[in-house]
Amino acid sequence: MKSVQFPIFKTKVEGVTRRFNLIEPEERRTYFELKAGPEIQKIREYLKENSFIAYLLGKKNAGKGTYSKMFAEIIDPDKIFHFSIGDMVREIGKELEDKQLRKELISFLEENYRGWISLEEAIPALEKRDTKTLTVPTELLLSLVKREIARREKRALFIDGFPRNLDQISFSLFFRDLIGYREDPDIFILIDVPESVVDERMKHRRICPICQTSRNLKLFPTKKVGYDQKRREFYLTCNNSNCQGARMIKKEGDELGIKAIGERLKMDEKLIKQTFSLYGIPKVLLRNSIPVTEAEKYVDDYEITPEYSYEWLPEKGQVKIIEKPWEFYDDEGILSFSLLPSSMVVSLIKQMVEVLNL
Ligand SMILES: [Zn+2]
Repeated sequence: MKSVQFPIFKTKVEGVTRRFNLIEPEERRTYFELKAGPEIQKIREYLKENSFIAYLLGKKNAGKGTYSKMFAEIIDPDKIFHFSIGDMVREIGKELEDKQLRKELISFLEENYRGWISLEEAIPALEKRDTKTLTVPTELLLSLVKREIARREKRALFIDGFPRNLDQISFSLFFRDLIGYREDPDIFILIDVPESVVDERMKHRRICPICQTSRNLKLFPTKKVGYDQKRREFYLTCNNSNCQGARMIKKEGDELGIKAIGERLKMDEKLIKQTFSLYGIPKVLLRNSIPVTEAEKYVDDYEITPEYSYEWLPEKGQVKIIEKPWEFYDDEGILSFSLLPSSMVVSLIKQMVEVLNL
């Protein structure tokens, strides 16, 4: 089911022929300068005196965190904050384990929380490990967000994880008043990513058991790939020198891919559809995929996500790495490429300039 059509964004710039390796931070900086230099300046200038509040909406694993963090890194990390509701709930879960912090939190809520269920009933939802934000009543969630924002210096916000269901959309329309951002523009950032991309991102994900860094065996390997002869499988070695060559591992449930998150994907899709038709709030539309036949017109080839496969060369004791553009079918069955995060962020930067009227 395809609900809304996202336009393809052109990141190709006439006259820019230089190629970039977008995995390298240094290269990335030059890339952004060349592709969106004036727009970056405009946003920096704007953020000197102003802020904004942007809601990130997209399927699970759509890249919400990646894009907004990269945006902040490029524009100005001190002026922009990625606010994950899921992380906040997990932090509060930990706070509740500490006697003193628990007391403080509860007395804050006694003064500030208003809702349909009592605090005694609502608090257990925060205590469960890996709790689903969904189960935390919205009224409680909002008091907690308000407290969290009030603690910080004012910055432009990317909100990740709210609204999370259809009821919360109406709350989000008044959210900026609630957190004291009344004068700031609010924006919905909708991310469209085909299910097959989410699926592969999950299925091949690998995580460092020490530093928790997440990579992908097929789509985003580390510098060193090894081969386990006994198990006959390739593995990634963490790049972080502190981890001393730790072998990255699969997370339980990931091998199921989108089968494991079917309900959640349906809800995310509904949320996008609903917010797409909202009046009065500007929208940024980020489209992750591009039909193979259209790619050349819109993007440069190094902006396309490659896929990696491996071959074990026993006589050399080496792993041979094979790289090629990754092709897959999108939700409508069209053979497509997926864009690298940097390219998505160029699109985000340029559209932000538009919606902020800079
Ligand atoms: Zn590590």
